[in-house]
Amino acid sequence: MNTARNGRPPEAVYIHIPFCTNKCFYCDFNSYVLKDQPVMEYLYALDREMEETVKKTPPGVIKTIFVGGGTPTVLKPDEMAYFLDSVRRHFPHWDEQIEFSMEANPGTTDIDKLRVMKEGGVNRVSFGVQAFQNELLSGIGRIHNVDDVYRSLENARAVGLNNLSVDLMFGLPNQTVDMLRESVAKALELGLPHYSIYSLKVEENTLFHTLFNKNKLPLPNEEDELAMYLLLMSAMEAAGYTQYEISNFAKPGMESRHNITYWRNEDYYGLGAGAHGYVGRQRHMNIKGVNPYIEASRSGLPRLDSFPVSEQEAMEDFMMVGLRMREGVSGTAFRSQFGKPLEEIFEAPLHKMLAAGLLEQAGDTYRLSKQGILFGNDVFGEFVGVLTEV
Ligand code: SF4
Repeated sequence: MNTARNGRPPEAVYIHIPFCTNKCFYCDFNSYVLKDQPVMEYLYALDREMEETVKKTPPGVIKTIFVGGGTPTVLKPDEMAYFLDSVRRHFPHWDEQIEFSMEANPGTTDIDKLRVMKEGGVNRVSFGVQAFQNELLSGIGRIHNVDDVYRSLENARAVGLNNLSVDLMFGLPNQTVDMLRESVAKALELGLPHYSIYSLKVEENTLFHTLFNKNKLPLPNEEDELAMYLLLMSAMEAAGYTQYEISNFAKPGMESRHNITYWRNEDYYGLGAGAHGYVGRQRHMNIKGVNPYIEASRSGLPRLDSFPVSEQEAMEDFMMVGLRMREGVSGTAFRSQFGKPLEEIFEAPLHKMLAAGLLEQAGDTYRLSKQGILFGNDVFGEFVGVLTEV
């Protein structure tokens, strides 16, 4: 039996549904085009994985569940009902204030499905909107259009799902600074409690990567991309949203508690094809392909890999993910996880980043400065590979 390092089981659960209606041109997530996929077989396999998982690490009270993908809302209402019932059976004890999020695509959320989601316990929906210009949406391979966005949000509210978030993207091919300004303004008009705004990364094994290599991907230049990031940060701040993480903005108290689990380097169950989990300073990664995952789940946990995380790595992870949050990392939290003083372990990079003005300090807390937010990856990199002598 496995428990988390503090003696308590994880309070967070991630579950992966790896199906999408089609493949977006930039996507390197573990997702497969839905047509002809054995969806019910996959849900049975997930059920088996949950059963094995809770046998190994019995759950306590669950505080957050996040169903991501893929596009979980491609499940039909009866499939969704089966899936949510299965989650409830294996993780029966929920905190009264549980945050149960599901990712959704605006093209796949009719009212019947949203009702099943609500009845099954989902209380937060995160819509992949990306942009408010149909030509940009089709240019990145999304299946929805702007009308679908309004309709899906209306449907969600009609069934009583009000804790809603939308994702936007910037740095898209053919996107101008004015287009981003318009997308942010339209997103803000929706008056939601939470927004995630990501920059496009051209990942290997995507259509965009092929086009990029052929010089056929008309991305905004660096200057425009920086202008977009500055613009969206100031627009969100002016509208009363706190940038609580590099890419995430929320009204007070409406931050994604599930994602904060990751950024605080806390434990979580990870279930489904290609999912990662972190339990008792042990990480695992599941088999990625749908059929191999289903097969493997018939004879135990469907692991691709599972390995212990050394204390050094855990410390580095603590800094890398913790500094993503605007609240930063505190010496107190570090000491309670590792029993050692943060300043001693990371003395050199802390001094270097403070001197460069990329980190700022308040008491025993360190966080990215406004300038540091723009160079986050450079700052995080300073904390990796420095602990060989610890
Ligand atoms: S909807 Fe999301 S997971 Fe699916 S292909 Fe598009 S980006 Fe990838």
